[in-house]
Amino acid sequence: MENTSFDQCIKCTVCTVYCPVSKHNPDFLGPKTYGPDGERLRRKDPAYYDEMMSACTNCKRCETACPSGVKIGDIIAIARKKHAKKPLSPKTVRDFILGHTDLMGSLSTPFAPIVNAVTDVKPIKSLMHKTLGIHDHKRLPKYARGGTFRRWFNKQRAQQEKFDRQVHYFHGCYVNYNNPQQGKDLVKVLNAMGIGVTLLEKEQCCGVPLIANGFFKKATQNAQRNVSAMTNALQQHSAPILSTSSTCAMTLRDEYPHVLNVDNGAVRDKIHYISRFLLTEFMHGNQPKMKKLNLRVDYHTPCHLEKSGNQLYTIELLRAIPGIHLNILDSQCCGSAGTYGFKAEHYQTSIKIGTPVFDTITENQPDFVITDCETCKWQIEENTPHQAIHPLSLIAMALANDDDSLTDN
Ligand code: SF4
Ligand code: SF4
Ligand code: SF4
Repeated sequence: MENTSFDQCIKCTVCTVYCPVSKHNPDFLGPKTYGPDGERLRRKDPAYYDEMMSACTNCKRCETACPSGVKIGDIIAIARKKHAKKPLSPKTVRDFILGHTDLMGSLSTPFAPIVNAVTDVKPIKSLMHKTLGIHDHKRLPKYARGGTFRRWFNKQRAQQEKFDRQVHYFHGCYVNYNNPQQGKDLVKVLNAMGIGVTLLEKEQCCGVPLIANGFFKKATQNAQRNVSAMTNALQQHSAPILSTSSTCAMTLRDEYPHVLNVDNGAVRDKIHYISRFLLTEFMHGNQPKMKKLNLRVDYHTPCHLEKSGNQLYTIELLRAIPGIHLNILDSQCCGSAGTYGFKAEHYQTSIKIGTPVFDTITENQPDFVITDCETCKWQIEENTPHQAIHPLSLIAMALANDDDSLTDN
């Protein structure tokens, strides 16, 4: 499906005003130039492709702001897919490592304590900075010590099958390899609402880190396999397919057809970000019993959640938790953008983008920061003294007679 939305551009430049990279990197000419304006030129001559477009974080804030519905982030991503060069260099090796989250997760999780310790050693971080271009101020994501989420789930499968109502869960690599507790919290909350969980057979990474790092062929393969897995799951029983990652949900629903040209029409309407599903259930009376938490929380909206319009569901869901004093932070990018902030050449821009968010949180001193995105969590925890958790984990914490939701293994 060809993206011709550039024809709708009315040259208002609102997208450039809202672009966090344009604000902090003077070499980045911005969404209007690289998006609709550049696309007209590239169609005449691909030599107009500018390698500086790789500095786009794919945050989609330009698209969210555009009054004319121009799919600017998609236009830039497709131009990178068509024209970007990937010469064999240390940075390509780094991009391979950062992009192939499934491969790195399956290799690293069995040795989690060693991998976690080694990637925190200063001389090794310094070596990775000099050779691969992974910035030494960043902490690489930690792998789960107790094994993957899928391994834990296999022991729960029989129990989950006993529920009359079921949902399918796309857990993503982050839950599987880095934070199985978030998946366990999902199971706990849904079970308290009388709903069982099934996993997709042969789930692959949604593909967003592959897209961000220029591995479009592999991202397309993953998309085709995931659409096939979701189609099979729906044939077995028609039920919602839920994601606890705002970026995975957006990718499965929108990036597959728009950027990767993979038809997801048979499954798209069944894919939901978790807060939309939960709030709808709550509003129909299926709300689990929750105790009062008495916590002050700052809510940070991820860019991709805002793009898909799901932030209102999360906000209302947080308001439904008894005793929560909710402070909704101004809509701003945290600068993390998946693997972007790990790259030495983008690290400073990433920090400059996120600084207003970090300063506000540090000043507010909340008990927790709440965010729907795993990489926002990493960025906030690295740059403020506060722990960031998923909205679902806060609900799991509030479940009556349940005070171990964040530590249960
Ligand atoms: S915001 Fe939309 S209409 Fe305005 S310049 Fe950017 S792409 Fe064009
Ligand atoms: S996707 Fe984000 S970084 Fe890229 S051009 Fe749009 S606003 Fe800027
Ligand atoms: S986007 Fe989702 S599936 Fe892809 S790497 Fe991140 S968590 Fe994993």
